[in-house]
Amino acid sequence: MDLLPGGCTRPPTGAPVDPRRRVPRTDLVLADPRLAGAVATLGRARVKVSIGHAQERARRGEIGPEDVPTVVAATLSGAVAGPRPVVNATGVVLHTNLGRARLSPTAVAALVVAAGHTDVELDLGTGRRARRGRGALAALAAAVPDAEAVHVVNNGAAALLLAATVLAAGREIVVSRGELVEIGDGFRLPDLLASTGARLREVGTTNRTTRADYAAALGPHTGFLLKVHPSNFVVRGFTAAVPVADLAGLGVPVVVDIGSGLLAPEALLPDEPDAATALRCGAALVTASGDKLLGGPQAGLLLGRTELVERLRRHPLARAVRVDKLTLAALEATLRGSGTPTWQALRADPDGLRVRAEWLRAALTADGVPAGVVGCAAVVGGGGAPGVELPSWAVALPAGYAAALRHGDPAVLGRVERGQLLLDLRCVPPELDPALRVAVHRAAGRGPRPGD
Ligand SMILES: *Cc1c(COP(=O)(O)O)cnc(C)c1O
Repeated sequence: MDLLPGGCTRPPTGAPVDPRRRVPRTDLVLADPRLAGAVATLGRARVKVSIGHAQERARRGEIGPEDVPTVVAATLSGAVAGPRPVVNATGVVLHTNLGRARLSPTAVAALVVAAGHTDVELDLGTGRRARRGRGALAALAAAVPDAEAVHVVNNGAAALLLAATVLAAGREIVVSRGELVEIGDGFRLPDLLASTGARLREVGTTNRTTRADYAAALGPHTGFLLKVHPSNFVVRGFTAAVPVADLAGLGVPVVVDIGSGLLAPEALLPDEPDAATALRCGAALVTASGDKLLGGPQAGLLLGRTELVERLRRHPLARAVRVDKLTLAALEATLRGSGTPTWQALRADPDGLRVRAEWLRAALTADGVPAGVVGCAAVVGGGGAPGVELPSWAVALPAGYAAALRHGDPAVLGRVERGQLLLDLRCVPPELDPALRVAVHRAAGRGPRPGD
């Protein structure tokens, strides 16, 4: 230990320095206790990449050799705290495991502004409290003129939870057996509804439910009639379901969970229900997600009759599912903005995707990577437009590249199909093509390999 002026001892700086290069050896830095947490959460391979970068900086004289462990710890503390960026080459436009919709640049800019203090709940004109998120609510109301009133909560499930609690706790929700949906990760809408204290009154069968089935189940205990969009599966064959318009006249409120958040009909996805149409057909309340086909942040949208929306808004539970200021900012920007990455991906021209795939193949082949180009089918995913396939193009690589690409920085996620790793370009923004090339090049071991 060095003796400092004043007789203090300097704490050990961790890894001893390689006397030849004056740069600490990787194994010694790895053993530094300050990096133990990072090794445990991120893995040795990820930490070694950072050590390599810091060693390089030390060799260039940008940092002192003794600073290498500190610099690595500082770099990785950011990595520990935040999610890692992923290039979505899965061909699934709304991938729930990847955070569904990618936000537009305008929405991202709004998020950054909202990160500070904002007028989220204050009228700067009068200096008084104002309706929280009124800008986002006004944008939603303007986007769906058929809605008398609107409200926003944390997510689609919260919207449904609030509706069931306020309108049907201790009463019955009448719902078709064909619409008792499991949304994912083991979560089931019937369980969510029952958790509010409402009783489910199931009608019809898995494949067929008629208006008479609903009518026979209605009574003094009915809270509301629920229509759920089967957003992640398709039932084909001998089937019957009742349109909202035929249920609206039965004398009880009809709540429609459209799921995907289309606000108006969309020619590209003709079978996908939308909020405006459901309301025009007589729905009292529509619930939807903000981060599916709307292309915005995670949010739950509630649109419908003023009397019902106000009851939901004033219920104590509404405070527990209150939406964050960041979400409100991103939602407003999404609603007022012109187009989202989700719709750019959905509308991407297959010929353009093919040209990009060919460019990548040529570049990778020149790099010595065995790459091919294949036509394939992308999907909407994320609980929207089940069964719809979007023609797409992918770069094909040996399946063995999958793990190395996943561990890269940025991580790249493709899909393995018939023994090949396909990097489907439909959801990859074109400006990322060069980064994708570099990532594959690294995964091939011809550049600094992830794990080095
Ligand atoms: C996705 C979905 C939900 C759940 O919405 P979240 O925003 O994920 O909470 C509920 N119902 C339907 C029909 C859905 O598609």
